Amino acid sequence: MVTPREPLAHRLQGFGASIFAEMTALAVSTGAINLGQGFPDYDGPRDVLDEAIRNVAEGNNQYPPGIGVPALREAIAHHQKRFWNLSYDPDSEVLVTMGATEALAGALLGILNTNDEVVVFEPLFDTYAGCVALAGAHLSPVTLQPQSDGRYGFDADQLRNVITPNTRMILLNSPHNPTGMVFTRDELQLVADIAIEHNLIVVSDEVYEHLTFDSAVHIPIATLPGMYERTITISSGGKSFNTTGWKIGWACAPAALLNATRMAKQLFTFAGGTPFQSAIAVGLQLPDAYFEQLAADLQRKRDMLLPALRDAGLQPITPEGTYFITADIRERFPHGDSMQFCRALPAQCGVVAIPGGVLYDPRHSEEGKHIVRFAFCKQDDTIKEASQRLRSWA
Ligand code: PMP
Ligand code: GLN
Repeated sequence: MVTPREPLAHRLQGFGASIFAEMTALAVSTGAINLGQGFPDYDGPRDVLDEAIRNVAEGNNQYPPGIGVPALREAIAHHQKRFWNLSYDPDSEVLVTMGATEALAGALLGILNTNDEVVVFEPLFDTYAGCVALAGAHLSPVTLQPQSDGRYGFDADQLRNVITPNTRMILLNSPHNPTGMVFTRDELQLVADIAIEHNLIVVSDEVYEHLTFDSAVHIPIATLPGMYERTITISSGGKSFNTTGWKIGWACAPAALLNATRMAKQLFTFAGGTPFQSAIAVGLQLPDAYFEQLAADLQRKRDMLLPALRDAGLQPITPEGTYFITADIRERFPHGDSMQFCRALPAQCGVVAIPGGVLYDPRHSEEGKHIVRFAFCKQDDTIKEASQRLRSWA
């Protein structure tokens, strides 16, 4: 008998199943509260939902244009101007995608060549590593570390030292998943200086652009001098309008950069989500008060969960943005193995979290082995119940 060949492409060897899917399956099978995968357990604004329902009911259910429905492209361009003073032409510099995930895949596969190197800040969102590998390119990780001031930060020398003649791109994510770090203007300037000096493209994943807390301010790197022309800015309606299952995302960039993204994107889904595109266009035009309330509500939820994590003997780092808290487990669990911790937590405590080690480059997985991530985009009652479970488990 002939043994079937290993079907998985060489480029995907070494990647396991998504940790987010694994941990959500664990939440379902154990009935534990899912503070793992980052999705809200509450709905988005009524006007946005109603617009989707209206579009479905009125028969707006066929393919949209490949670059996205005009009303959404216009709303994205208007949003970029209104919040960040960035100007994009809705017809040539805005591309609607199936979630930020497809925008990222389009940008990476549309731009990278074999053996190009991509600078990323780790821990990193899992699709980055997979798409860079699919492109035949390589990651050059720079590690975010907790600093003495209680924030995450990075070593500027490490950033400078990972640059080689093969470096082609910096893949930035601020506000950052999973650390909750919001890059300051000075930190962004360090990144920008290197991008300009080495003529690099920057792909900036800003899906949490509206989720910042206290005095943290989101600054799109495209707004820094000399950066607009080399930056692809990516975001998603999923995070701003609590509609993660709709997968309506976008990329904005000067036409040539956007076109490279579009060339790849058209080979994936081509286009999709027509009724949801129109609905996200309504969301992007909501008044400032909506976006302020969104952040204020999440800040309150963050402040409910933080003390419960401390009471459970974990050392959380207060996030400046996103809807995630990372915590160090070593004081209570000297083994420091977050995978073991996350596999046991649902049965022991009735809560699910994400182990940090898998969000690091495999060469550095020890760096984040002791980190766990908790999502707090949950109803107040869900957070209260999770907090009570964490405290009684302590
Ligand atoms: N980037 C980051 C940093 C994320 O956390 C997520 C969340 N899923 C995505 C991209 C993907 O966004 P989407 O669900 O719109 O594809
Ligand atoms: N962005 C979400 C998270 O980080 C969802 C990721 C996913 O399911 N792929 O949890």
